Amino acid sequence: MIAEMIKNHARILGGKEVADEIKRKIAEEVKNLSFRPLLAVVRVGEDAASAVYVGSKVKTSEELGFISEHHHLPAEISQRELLELVEDLNKRDEVDGILVQLPLPEHINDKEILEAINPEKDVDGFHPINVGRLMSGQNVLAPCTPAGVIEILKYYNIEIAGKHAVIVGRSNIVGKPMAMLLLQNNATVTICHSRTQNLAEITSQGDILVAAIGRAGFIGGKHIKEGAAVIDVGMNNVTDADFAEKLFDEPELEKRLRTIEKRGFTLVGDVNPKEAMQKAGAFTPVPGGVGLLTVAMLMRNTLDAAKMRRNG
Ligand code: NAP
Repeated sequence: MIAEMIKNHARILGGKEVADEIKRKIAEEVKNLSFRPLLAVVRVGEDAASAVYVGSKVKTSEELGFISEHHHLPAEISQRELLELVEDLNKRDEVDGILVQLPLPEHINDKEILEAINPEKDVDGFHPINVGRLMSGQNVLAPCTPAGVIEILKYYNIEIAGKHAVIVGRSNIVGKPMAMLLLQNNATVTICHSRTQNLAEITSQGDILVAAIGRAGFIGGKHIKEGAAVIDVGMNNVTDADFAEKLFDEPELEKRLRTIEKRGFTLVGDVNPKEAMQKAGAFTPVPGGVGLLTVAMLMRNTLDAAKMRRNG
């Protein structure tokens, strides 16, 4: 009976302690530098989620002893004006990291903007040069979310080398760089996507399963290998109380229903936590998991960019 109870409760891999540890080390290192790393964040228009993300990036960079610049531009800014700002930030020697918050307004060609950023200051790791470096296994400014997943696995001593890692999702910002980072850490990697046939058959072979899909609670028990480490990158808003009941048991359900009542939605991942709890050996919660690592990894990239560029 006791053995069964233990078996039915996966270990929760909280992101906060991992992020706090990374930030603590960064702050300590910054204190001993002869300069303060400077992160420039560019935000265009009034997207509410972007305002929250940028606010948190600026606040954290200041807490860690960085200098931060917040360039907030009107939605009607032209492609040329935005390019000029990026060029100016590229030229300024004291600027270590440049981050252009996505999404950009429709009339802006975001690919051209991201490619205009000096790869040495590209703290999001989205520039094709950094993508190529990651592909060729070099030390690189890697995209923050997948880099954060690796930190979680390492922090909780989840072995990567020799394990079969299955990723669902092949986006340029999560799925593909995730695959490269797991490969660099000697996992055997499989990438699945919307055209994958017999998805559950493949995902249920993963010792490590990373879900980066954008569909609430999509990964259920049938997708998970018994005892696997399940990493949930997804961030989805659920507004429907009946659907929430499929994802959560009490007492969490009660909390989620109250959140839906109060805010109109509750944040959930791509994994069904109720089913993951029964089948996985460990999994990351949403909220409170991978999401908390993204800003910490941005700070890590800014510090690394500063050291690499200034010290050669
Ligand atoms: P995305 O660009 O929309 O990519 C989603 C991927 O999932 C695509 O590769 C798609 O396949 C695949 N997919 C969709 N439906 C599928 C299905 N039924 N079966 C198998 N694969 C399916 O999304 P993203 O930017 O990678 O983000 C993924 C999730 O992570 C979202 O919930 C996003 O909000 C979240 N996210 C979180 C953070 C964080 O900080 N925690 C950061 C970034 C993103 P195709 O390529 O075939 O279309």
